Order: sequence, then C-alpha cells, then structure tokens
Amino acid sequence: DKMMILKEKEQFIKKSGMLELVNFSENVDDIGGLENLKEWLERKAKIFAGLDKAIKFGVDVPKGAMIIGMPGCGKSLTAKATASLFQIPLLRLDVGRLLGKYVGESEANMRKALKLSEAISPCVLWIDEIEKAFAGVGSAGGSNEVTTRLFGQFLTWMQEKDNEVFIVATANDITRLPPEFLRKGRFDELFFVDFPNADERELILQIHLRKRNQERSIDLTKIVEKTEGYNGADLEAIVKAAVENCFIEGKVNVTEKDLLEA
Ligand code: ATP
Repeated sequence: DKMMILKEKEQFIKKSGMLELVNFSENVDDIGGLENLKEWLERKAKIFAGLDKAIKFGVDVPKGAMIIGMPGCGKSLTAKATASLFQIPLLRLDVGRLLGKYVGESEANMRKALKLSEAISPCVLWIDEIEKAFAGVGSAGGSNEVTTRLFGQFLTWMQEKDNEVFIVATANDITRLPPEFLRKGRFDELFFVDFPNADERELILQIHLRKRNQERSIDLTKIVEKTEGYNGADLEAIVKAAVENCFIEGKVNVTEKDLLEA
C-alpha cells in the first residue's frame, strides 16, 4: 500500500515539475565518520517515528538541519541517509527552477513547491547548494530582489513550520549565506562537514571496498597515511580504480598495493 501511494505521489510530483523525487539506496551505514551527525539524525528519526506521542509529551517537531562543508565529504549522502533512516520519501527542491519571468511568478512557484512538500509529507525536503539559490539576497537589482523575496518567504515558512517536512539544506560556502539563515530557531542544528581524518578515511575505504565485494581484511595503514586531505569522493575513486585494475589484470582480490598504485 505504501508503495502504491508513493507511486501516485511520484506522478503528482513529476507533473508539478518543481520538486524532484530522489531515488537512492544509501543508508547511514554507507557514511564513514560524521558520528555526531548520524547520532543526531537517529534521535530525530525516533521522534519522527512516534511523532503523535512525542508531541503529546511536549517534544518539538523536528524542523531540519543545515549541513555545511567541503565538496565530496558526504553532504548529499547524508540527505539520502536521512530519508532512509526516517523511512520517508526524499524530495529535492531546486530554487533555480522556481524562477519565472513574470512578476510574482517565482513567489507563486515557491509557495506551490512548499505546499506540495506539505501534501507529500512526511518527507525530507532537500535543498542542495542553498547558498547558490539565495546568493545576492539583500543586494539591489531586479533578480536579487526576487531572490530576497523568495528567501524571506522560505524563512517565514521555516519559522512557522508546523508540518512533517524535515529540511536538509546543504551548502559548500557558508560565507555566501545570508546571516538570518543561521539564526537559532530556523534549523534545529548546523553541522560542519570537514575532510575525513585518518580513522574516518579508513572507514570510508572499508565501506567502498565492501560495496565492491572486496570484504577481506586488507591492511589500510599506508593508504590511510598517504591520503591526508582526500575527501570521501576521492577515496571512493581510488577503490573503484583499484578494483577495476585488479579485475583487468586477472588478480584474485585487491591488496593495499593496488590501492596505493591507484
Ligand atoms: P558536493 O558538495 O560536491 O555535492 P557532497 O558533500 O554532497 O559533495 P557526496 O555527494 O555526498 O558529497 O559524496 C560523493 C560521493 O563520495 C558519495 O556518493 C560517496 O560515495 C562518497 N563519500 C563522500 N563522503 C563519504 C563518507 N563520509 N563516507 C562514505 N562515502 C563518502
């Protein structure tokens, strides 16, 4: 039944053209590191799972999180893992797609998109690269004024939010974000996602080796040392290349040497 309803919702979303239903297979176990963030999400998932009870008890309805950080360090992955943890659909809002050429059109689109997310809820509403969407807020000029109004509209909605739409906003560059965004009361929490440290790099390499059927315990000491400053996406690329090379060279399985060469 749940699947049927989701299929119908998917059609509905497609027709509107303003939100995108994201398909994914990732879950929290696919994230190496980011322990605080994962723990926090697990708490919120518990609240969401028993929301009526939680509200009666006096718990606030979770609003969402802002995740800021380096490219390729797992922000998108976290948005997907959130939806998987909460067991609800993941919708992506592309603010750029809301912009229309007529007066008031963009605001009307924003209103529609937010209403649509409420109609689909419970859901995760993922706003990717939010700093790009709301760049130029507060400055003069035609398009900036529209962005400023959209931004104000979104903030008001977040402030007054009384629904089961959980926002995950991701951003690379915090300096481009209007400060109002970061004030308390909008998001429940802000997270900064940095390059993985040595322990995290090991976990990330293990995750991607496991995903590619290379589960044998490989000593990763050297590769972990050599990859300081690499992000999760880089580490995944190393594993991917090593696995491919080994297959082509007819090797039985991947060793640390193969990873170092890759
Ligand atoms: P961008 O800002 O460039 O969109 P991002 O922070 O959203 O980057 P992701 O898209 O989440 O990065 O990461 C890209 C890929 O790198 C992921 O699909 C995943 O395979 C891998 N990856 C990144 N971080 C991690 C991590 N912490 N654990 C495991 N895999 C990771």
